[in-house]
Amino acid sequence: METRAKATFPGGVHPPEGKQYSQDRPIEVVPTPKQVTVLLSQHLGAPCKALVNKKDAVKAGQKIGSSDAFVSAAIHSPVDGTVKDIVLAPHPVLGRTMGVVIDTAPQSEPKKPCADKFDLKFSPEQWPTEKICQAIKEAGIVGMGGAGFPARVKIEPNPAMPKEVLIVNGCECEPFLTCDYRMMLEWTWQILAGIRLAAKASDVEKVRIGIEDNKPEAIEIFSQAIQSCTDLDIQVVPVKTKYPQGGERQLIQAIWNKTVPTNNIPPTIGVVVINVATAAAIAEAVVLGQPLTHRVVSVTGRAIAKPGNYYCPVGMSVQEVINHCGGLNESAAKVVMGGPMMGFAIADLSTPLTKTSGGLTFLTRAEVTEAKFKHQQTACIRCGRCLSACPENLNPTRIAHAVKHNNLDLAQQYFMSGCIECGACSYVCPAHIELTGYIKTGKLLVARTKKKA
Ligand code: SF4
Ligand code: SF4
Repeated sequence: METRAKATFPGGVHPPEGKQYSQDRPIEVVPTPKQVTVLLSQHLGAPCKALVNKKDAVKAGQKIGSSDAFVSAAIHSPVDGTVKDIVLAPHPVLGRTMGVVIDTAPQSEPKKPCADKFDLKFSPEQWPTEKICQAIKEAGIVGMGGAGFPARVKIEPNPAMPKEVLIVNGCECEPFLTCDYRMMLEWTWQILAGIRLAAKASDVEKVRIGIEDNKPEAIEIFSQAIQSCTDLDIQVVPVKTKYPQGGERQLIQAIWNKTVPTNNIPPTIGVVVINVATAAAIAEAVVLGQPLTHRVVSVTGRAIAKPGNYYCPVGMSVQEVINHCGGLNESAAKVVMGGPMMGFAIADLSTPLTKTSGGLTFLTRAEVTEAKFKHQQTACIRCGRCLSACPENLNPTRIAHAVKHNNLDLAQQYFMSGCIECGACSYVCPAHIELTGYIKTGKLLVARTKKKA
């Protein structure tokens, strides 16, 4: 299969990148917070059940939640401490879910990244496939690029769906966010070790690393690093800077020139996709036996005093992150977990970070007000821009119209379920119609109806 330089996909948009706030800030370790709330639902699939009780002492890295379901991922404590409670806690996406509240033991030292444990001599030879898959499962690794799909389910061999290529997502197309970029620059060997382990576990010999062409340093550093992988057919593929280039379906189309059928997953066409942060977590889990308890978070935007890329424990509250980053300035008005295109606005600053929290974006009052008043919704002018922008080749205006009129069957006929909720249609709409909002609502209503049935 031939790959194409500066490859891309049809549709998409190019919003202002906003990376300048944090892209040049090296990854910094935050001090251990006094308390963490580790949510029992941080992934796609079944939520975990708590394995600990109130007043139990826990150790950093101890498994504190698990599920027997096939699609799920275990949860671990990021700190030494004592379980204070197991309660309903704010969740960035789901509203409220159960979480384990842990009071950190006094004088706990923060966990440090482990990138210095990896170098160009790394070889996956000593780890058999079963051991790699088991380590990924035990570590509770999920897709850290946003979706949170359990990594073991994606990677482990499946005779019914043999894999041909591993595609590594280093695009970070979401505006403002820079955590993947900094990891690529600072944790190169660790990421490469994770890629090699994932390739071995998936039984593929072909690997393609997709990086947007607005990150030339990352392209250069990985192009050099892969010279050490003489046993693999591995290439760095610069892809066009365009949103949502990092969507896995879009990345496959750009790099591998294949389309994942609607409502199907990449393994059905022989492809497995992992994000660079997930690769780093795989290396840490397999080689060092450490579960996924910390991640790099981009803290960014005009409204935060000290933007940067911070290595934080999962379960740390947004308020604690704000405190560590010098606080909000007076103009702060909106906090988004994630970036401005696919992130979720949060109202409760006690909301904890999860394994998929790649960023916190702090917007000013002026930015929010401008968006609200300059972009008053008007009637659809049938310009068709939303159709051109949709990377999934859908008709967003028809789907949104059907949802608005409570005709969910019609919305389904227009393939509403194929929407990846990228927000590109809303972004380009000159009538400022919240097309993505309608579609998300429609999908939620369908899911509720199915659940009731
Ligand atoms: S319909 Fe869905 S996939 Fe298409 S542009 Fe809108 S949000 Fe993105
Ligand atoms: S972009 Fe907006 S105005 Fe244009 S067709 Fe789509 S919904 Fe209508």
